[in-house]
Formats: sequence, C-alpha cells, structure tokens
Amino acid sequence: MARYIGPVCRLCRREDMKLFLKGDRCYTEKCGQERRAYAPGQHGQNNRRRSKTSDYGEQLREKQKVKRIYGIAERQFRGYYFRANRMKGVTGENLLMLLERRLDNVVYRLGFASDHAEARQLVRHGHFSVNGSRVDIPSYLVKANDEVLVRENSKKIKRIGESLAAVDRRGVPQWLEVDKDNFRGKVKSLPAREDFTMPIREQLIVELYSK
Ligand code: SF4
Repeated sequence: MARYIGPVCRLCRREDMKLFLKGDRCYTEKCGQERRAYAPGQHGQNNRRRSKTSDYGEQLREKQKVKRIYGIAERQFRGYYFRANRMKGVTGENLLMLLERRLDNVVYRLGFASDHAEARQLVRHGHFSVNGSRVDIPSYLVKANDEVLVRENSKKIKRIGESLAAVDRRGVPQWLEVDKDNFRGKVKSLPAREDFTMPIREQLIVELYSK
C-alpha cells in the first residue's frame, strides 16, 4: 500500500479520535477532530448514526488507528505483528512496544520533531546519531541506555529548535529523557504498556491477524 499523502485530519475524523498527526495544530482549537467531530465525506454526519459496527469492523478500525498514528504501511505493520507474536509475553503489548521503539517515534517523543511524519523525514535526512553513529533508518529500534543526539550541523535547523521549545506542552514519556540545551535524548528503559497513553485496544488487532 502506498503511503497516504492526503489531508491527515481526515484520518483522525475517520477514526473518531485525535491521532496527533499535525504537530502544534493538534493542540489548538483549529484541530479538525474538535471542529468537525464526525466522519469525513458527504455522508459523514449520517454515518455517526449508523447501527453497531461488526466485530471485524472494530478490529479493522483499531489496526488502522495504530497504523495511522505511526504512519506505517500495511505490509510493514504485518511484519511487526509477526515479530511481536514470536516474542515472549503478550503479543498486542509487544506490538505496541516495538512501534514505540522505532527511531522516528523516539525522535518525535523526545520533542525533536512536531509529528511523526516530520520525525521520519528528519531521520531519513541523517540529522540524528545513536550512540555516536549516524542512523538514517526510521524503523531502527532503540534499546535501553541508547543515546539519541541531534548531529552537530543539524542543531541549527529551525524546526528542530521550535519543536524542542514546544515539547513541554505534550510532555516526554517516562522511559525517555531529554536534555534540550544539548539536543540530547536518552532511552532510560524500554517502554511499558502504561507508557502508551492513547486509547488503543491492541487485543483487537491480535484477533484480526489471528484469523
Ligand atoms: Fe488530528 Fe491533529 Fe488534525 Fe486534530 S489537528 S484532526 S489531532 S491531525
């Protein structure tokens, strides 16, 4: 599946929840989900009155939500599911934890980017190093005690500075630590389920793929 490049607020409205795909705008009254809290499209307002969704429909929506939060295509997402399934522990939680450990997500959570799409682009352009080595792979999985740094020449990039200045508004999760003055982030520990604060029922995704 090709990457979605249309208006991202439609995705939030489709999932009927804020997915925080548009940086600072998501925290203002301009948020599309707050202004028009119904599904996009000609029949969006009517659809809200529809009868109950099927089990399959609920499972599908849950998967779509998570894919959209992290901006991941179907094939890659499926790959994460199978990897999570092979790991010890609860598959759904493993899946979320794998996604949280992606370098582009860590860059976003540390506040070096204002949304996931921007984080992915900054990583691809080689603006970060992990433990001293340049890493330009958004799907790179960080480990406990890794150090994520904005590279020296990239510290002057305006949007990194602006994102860092605004990070207090959304907060940094407990498993990460940021030193804003030195453009440095640290992975204190691996993420746990409680670090994922968005209302996701990951068990439904497991049920979908287990069929
Ligand atoms: Fe979603 Fe952000 Fe758009 Fe609001 S502003 S609808 S949270 S992408």
